Amino acid sequence: MAGVQKKEGPRLDFFSDWKYSPAPESKDHIRLNKRYELFINGKFVKPTKGKYFSTINPATEEKLAEVANADEKDVDLAVNAAKNASEKIWKKMSGKERGKYIYRIARMLQERAREFAVIETMDGGKTIRESRDVDVPLAANHFFYYAGWADKLNYAFPNRNPQPLGVAGQIIPWNFPLLMAAWKIAPALATGNTVVLKSAETTPLTSLKLAEIIQESGLPDGVVNIITGAGLTGAAIVNHPLVNKVAFTGSTEVGRIIQRATAGTGKKVTLELGGKAANIIFEDAPIDQAVEGIINGIFFNQGHVCCAGSRLFVQEGVADLVIRKLKDRMETLIVGDPLDKNTDIGAINSKEQLQTISKYIEIGKTGGADFYQSSCPIPKKGFFMRPTLFLNVSQSHRIVTEEIFGPVLAVQTFRTIEEVIEKANNIPYGLSAGVWTDKGSKIFNITGKLRAGIVWANTYNKFDPTSPFGGYKESGFGREGGLHGLLAYVNL
Ligand code: ADP
Repeated sequence: MAGVQKKEGPRLDFFSDWKYSPAPESKDHIRLNKRYELFINGKFVKPTKGKYFSTINPATEEKLAEVANADEKDVDLAVNAAKNASEKIWKKMSGKERGKYIYRIARMLQERAREFAVIETMDGGKTIRESRDVDVPLAANHFFYYAGWADKLNYAFPNRNPQPLGVAGQIIPWNFPLLMAAWKIAPALATGNTVVLKSAETTPLTSLKLAEIIQESGLPDGVVNIITGAGLTGAAIVNHPLVNKVAFTGSTEVGRIIQRATAGTGKKVTLELGGKAANIIFEDAPIDQAVEGIINGIFFNQGHVCCAGSRLFVQEGVADLVIRKLKDRMETLIVGDPLDKNTDIGAINSKEQLQTISKYIEIGKTGGADFYQSSCPIPKKGFFMRPTLFLNVSQSHRIVTEEIFGPVLAVQTFRTIEEVIEKANNIPYGLSAGVWTDKGSKIFNITGKLRAGIVWANTYNKFDPTSPFGGYKESGFGREGGLHGLLAYVNL
C-alpha cells in the first residue's frame, strides 16, 4: 500500500487553476455590543477607572467593539466575588448540583454554536472551518465531559477525599480563546472551585459571550467572573493574595514571570507554554496522508497552535518526494477571508504577530536556509501570511529552535531513528510531536523516546476532552483535559 502511494502522482498545477466560488459564512445573525463591561459577581459592571480598549477584526482591521480594561481594583472586586461565592455557595454545593449547571452551560453553548464560531473567527482571524468544526464543539464537549465528573470525584480519587482549592485565577491566550476558557473553567467548576478568568487582549469577545451564557444559566453570582485587560491585569490576578490557584496558557516568557511571582506563596500553578513540535515522516509512511498531516499541522491554523508541527523531519529516501508533494499542496491552499468556508489559512491574529512572523522569515533567509513560499494571492487589507517553507535548515538555526507561531515550516532530513529522536528532542520545548509510519512497532518505539507530552501517530492536531494535554521542559507543567485535568484543581 505504502509502495503504491509513494509513486509520483500527477502534478497539481491543473487543479490549482481551479477557482472556488466565494462561500462566506453569514454574519447577519451576529449581535455585538459597541462596548463590553466586566463580568463580576454575576453582573456586567463598568471598570472602576472607566478605561476601555478596542478589539479589531484582523482580517479587515475594522473595530468590532470596545472592551473594559480591568485594573487592580477591578481584579480585587472579581477575586473577592469569587472568594465569597466559594465560601458561601459553591464548595458547599453537592457535585450533582454543580454538574447540572455545567451541563446547562454546555448545552447553551451548543445551541449558540454558530454565533460563537462566527464571532471567534471575526475577533481572532482563524478560519470559520476551524472555529465551527474544532473550537466551539470542543469547548462544549469540555463542559459536557467535566460536568460528568462533578459528582464522581470520589471515584476519580478513591479514598483521597478531594477538596477544592478555592479561587482559581485563569489567564488565557489568543489562539483558542473560547476553547481555552472552556478548558480552564470546566474542570475548575466540576471540582468546586470558583473562577476569575482573563481573556487575551486581542480576542476578548467569545469569553464575554460565554459570560452572557453563564449569566443566563443561573450559575450563582461570583462563581465565574470574566474580565478583560492586558498583561497588568493578568499580573494583578496572579499576585492577588486570595487567589489559590493560577492556571496560565501563553508564552514561556510570561510563564517564567508567573513562576517567579508565585514561588513560595503556596499557590498551585499549572503552565501550558510554548512548543516547537517535530513532525516525523518515515520512508514507510503513507506519503499522501502524511503530506496532508503536515499541512494540517502547521498551515490550516495559521500556525497559531502551541502544538503546531513546525519542525518537519523527513527520512532521506522520501525527502524529495515529500517536499515536492508538499510544495504542490501548498500551491492549492487558499489564504484569505477567514469567514469563507473555502479558506484554508485565515488572518494572522494581530499586526504585532504578523511582524514577529515576518521577522523570523527574515532571520531564516539571512541565515542561509532555502526559502519557499506559495504564490497565492493575499488580501491587501488585514494581516495575512502565505504558507512558508525553509529547507536545508541546520539544527541550531533560530527558525528551528524558537517558536514562531505562524505558518512557517522548517524542514530537515534524517537517516536513522536514533538520529531523528536526538534531533527532535534537542530543543528546550516538549509539548507535542507527530510520527508517520506504516509500522506499529516503530510508533511504540519512538513515542516512548520523544520528550513530548502528546505524540500523534499517523494523524495530527487531534484533541479530545478525555485526553490529557501538557508539556515537558519549557513547554510547562501540569495537565489539562481528562482525569489528569481534575488533579490541578483539588487538594487530596
Ligand atoms: P502570547 O505571546 O501568546 O500573546 P502572552 O504570554 O504574552 O502570550 O499572553 C498570554 C496571556 O497572558 C494574555 O492573556 C496576556 O494578557 C497575559 N499576560 C501577559 N503578561 C502577563 C503577566 N506579566 N502576568 C500575567 N499575565 C500576563
